Amino acid sequence: MKISFDLDDTLIPYQKKDFEIENRTFFHKILQIEPLRKDTILLFKNLKNNGHSIGIYTTSFRKNWKIKLQFLSYGFNVDFVINQYKNNKLLRKNSISASKHPPSFKIDLHIDDSKGVKLEGEKYNFKTIIISKNDLKWQEIIKSKINS
Ligand SMILES: [Mg+2]
Repeated sequence: MKISFDLDDTLIPYQKKDFEIENRTFFHKILQIEPLRKDTILLFKNLKNNGHSIGIYTTSFRKNWKIKLQFLSYGFNVDFVINQYKNNKLLRKNSISASKHPPSFKIDLHIDDSKGVKLEGEKYNFKTIIISKNDLKWQEIIKSKINS
């Protein structure tokens, strides 16, 4: 499956206390690389080992290379990155008014924190898993839903 993850409030905390984060090295700090939710890399590696393609789908305007670099710096090479520039362009072309539309990018499953995205999934018939920042077993939830 081609699986995408949202960034803000799903993998990147808005506030430090939102959820635990991966260990940050001297380089992360000096290069001002954003923090990443704890166990993200473990989950990504696990999914990739099971044959899935793993990437990022965000409505933020972060540069694609910066997002790639962020994950590389934590030890994972994401298969694709869709930022808001790319998203806007294709959704406008396809005349889709949703904030996100994974099928336009041939994505089979999208993971997000937004209930709005869940509703869009129901409307436009795409699969989502919604994770809140309080879900301590968030990666277990994702793995079990993927394997069910
Ligand atoms: Mg979000």
